[in-house]
Amino acid sequence: MVLAEAVSKSFGTNEVLKSISLEVKRGEVMCLVGPSGSGKSTFLRCINHLEVVSSGRLSVDGDLIGYHEANGKLYEMHPKQAALQRRDIGMVFQRFNLFPHMTALENVMEAPIRVKRQSKAKVEASARALLARVGLAERADYYPAHLSGGQQQRVAIARALAMEPKLMLFDEPTSALDPELVGEVLDVMQGLAASGMTMIVVTHEMGFAREVADSLVFMDGGVVVESGVPTEVLANPQHARTQAFLSKVL
Ligand code: ATP
Ligand code: MG
Repeated sequence: MVLAEAVSKSFGTNEVLKSISLEVKRGEVMCLVGPSGSGKSTFLRCINHLEVVSSGRLSVDGDLIGYHEANGKLYEMHPKQAALQRRDIGMVFQRFNLFPHMTALENVMEAPIRVKRQSKAKVEASARALLARVGLAERADYYPAHLSGGQQQRVAIARALAMEPKLMLFDEPTSALDPELVGEVLDVMQGLAASGMTMIVVTHEMGFAREVADSLVFMDGGVVVESGVPTEVLANPQHARTQAFLSKVL
């Protein structure tokens, strides 16, 4: 579903991603961990085409992201085409980014109505079903300010799902939450994984990585230092940098 081949990304002279190669198969969950500044968010933003890679190839479901290929050469994609690609990829951020002037239900309905031009009744029915799926059927008419952080983040997940993405990206979805609210968000994510969604999750929740993820990737300084089955990487990290990092978060 996601294939990165020697993906590099620079901001000016700062090379933030250095030849990242990895693959996430359909229906798999990958957890991405690493110290601050290691390039995790940048990598997610490249997948979602919020950044354009400097070199290498990045594809989602067989589609090259950000470029089209002609006569063996890569050409940067028109922003309109890029926006079309982004529709199929859901993203959830650390901050919930809900529209404050819209209720939970309206937040979930906004993109399908704006983008897909489906009937309001149909969109509302699926939005209510999504809110029920994240355990918020009773909160449909609440504004974000009247919801807890965990509830807001679950609305954000429902909102991303409303576009029927084939891939979901999570960038530290629980790190802005009070500890007692983390579990309810991870439970929703675990349910999503069980339903077969392909997911890449940047997180420091190692319990989630161990129980839910099919692979764990440790990044540092823009490179993949180590990757593998979560239980194995966590029990027996091979590299000193992985060991040092895990000793801080476990
Ligand atoms: P954190 O755990 O703190 O979220 P991260 O692993 O997500 O860190 P990134 O946000 O990807 O790290 O940042 C990696 C590097 O890229 C940092 O040195 C950062 O300053 C730089 N960087 C990120 N975005 C930009 C940008 N738009 N312009 C210039 N530099 C950037
Ligand atoms: Mg980040």
